[in-house]
Amino acid sequence: MLENKNQEKTDLESLGEFGLIDHLTQNFSLTQKSTLKGIGDDAAVLDFKGKKTVVSTDLLIEGVHFDLSYMPLKHLGYKAVIVNLSDIYAMNAKATQITVSLAVSNRFSLEALEELYEGIALATKMYAVDLVGGDTTSSTTGMIISITALGEANTNEIVYRGGANANDLLVVTGDLGGSYMGLQVLEREKEVFKVNPNSQPDLEAYSYIVERQLKPEARKDVFELLNQLGVHPTSMIDISDGLSSEILHLCKQSKVGCNLFEDKIPMDPTVISACEEFKMDSTLVALSGGEDYELLFTIDQKEFPKIKGNPNLTVVGHMTAENEGAHLISRNNSKIPLTAQGWNSFAKHN
Ligand code: ADP
Ligand code: MG
Repeated sequence: MLENKNQEKTDLESLGEFGLIDHLTQNFSLTQKSTLKGIGDDAAVLDFKGKKTVVSTDLLIEGVHFDLSYMPLKHLGYKAVIVNLSDIYAMNAKATQITVSLAVSNRFSLEALEELYEGIALATKMYAVDLVGGDTTSSTTGMIISITALGEANTNEIVYRGGANANDLLVVTGDLGGSYMGLQVLEREKEVFKVNPNSQPDLEAYSYIVERQLKPEARKDVFELLNQLGVHPTSMIDISDGLSSEILHLCKQSKVGCNLFEDKIPMDPTVISACEEFKMDSTLVALSGGEDYELLFTIDQKEFPKIKGNPNLTVVGHMTAENEGAHLISRNNSKIPLTAQGWNSFAKHN
């Protein structure tokens, strides 16, 4: 077959703004009881029936937060939703709705936006949230996506960053550093491709970490697990910027200190081997890498039997009095102050 359907591109202008919105949103259905009115009026109408509403927004800019040279649009759509849902679960709330606002330049075709919305649709399906609105406009260069996520919780269920107490256990879900090492692999392949556009990257050995970067998941399962186990964290945050900076947020807002044990930090073997290959310190990668979208929370020691042995949950340290400060206890037992090296300051050291 000579004709390749994927290469036909439809100009966005040919649809007009309303045609475009209708086209992109036509296949979304509403499943949440709290959604009374979704897309199609001047505003959505929601009813949380006495529960509290939690709201979180993120803004993603092409070239700053994502790079379309290795990020397929479908993955971008999926990830843009996930990073917002992660914030809702970090409040110990159930995610229920999203809105999607989009600015695109004429570089993008209808087919490109369809791909983006395929990813958005998949995420709404997997996480059972309704798309209830948004905005669509043009930009002079590139793509900008802003997603707002809403969720619901009873007042006493909501978990803030500021509730940790001295002697609470510090717990992390899943494993850390994968997303950052996946990004290193993708950046390296991009450079190889620039020199030799015919090169076929073999990412097989890196599939776990590349997936952590391109298709992260939010811990809806952990939100549900904690509920099932009857565990109520005293404080919680999601890990978007790296373990170190998130611990410091909990410490600052809870007015406590912390001892984090280096040998307890959960890491996948493929992250460790990628760190060896890239000559990076795996602990530093877990502390400062970011974009893992795992949950970090504290629990009273009494709750420990409820989480003990659960493969999704790892105790990595404990909180202390505020005047003791926040430290990493290294493998050789030295006490190193934790610093908030975010993504950017870490990138500069490479
Ligand atoms: P308004 O003129 O009031 O801003 P719009 O014409 O922009 O309304 O939007 C019409 C409907 O489509 C609204 O319900 C709006 O929330 C929804 N909508 C607009 N853009 C998007 C989008 N990118 N994704 C999902 N829903 C959208
Ligand atoms: Mg509008």
